Amino acid sequence: MAHHVPDNSRRRFIKLTAVGLAAAPFANALLSGGTARAADLISETDPTASSLAYVADAAKSDKRKDATALCSNCGLYTGKAGDASGPCAIFQGKLVAANGWCTAWTKKAA
Ligand code: SF4
Repeated sequence: MAHHVPDNSRRRFIKLTAVGLAAAPFANALLSGGTARAADLISETDPTASSLAYVADAAKSDKRKDATALCSNCGLYTGKAGDASGPCAIFQGKLVAANGWCTAWTKKAA
């Protein structure tokens, strides 16, 4: 009977340690990934963005005439197809939303 108590405690300790070790790198990846993504997206209130009437959601713009115009099909957008955001030639060092739009939109060459 006396042998079972330390055995169980040790097993529990090993199990908890293993879970902690397995989860630690994952938590770090989540934290750094989230921070980087938030810092890189251009804000609608950025002076250049607001001068071009940039919106992260093109559907919310009252200036957009072409309902199919989006950052993702703009000639100045260099993001990968299917990504939620990508680089734009106008906003160096920042990302624009794939579903965004601004007055500098120009049809991407086919
Ligand atoms: S220039 Fe094109 S890709 Fe850049 S923000 Fe305007 S619509 Fe989007």
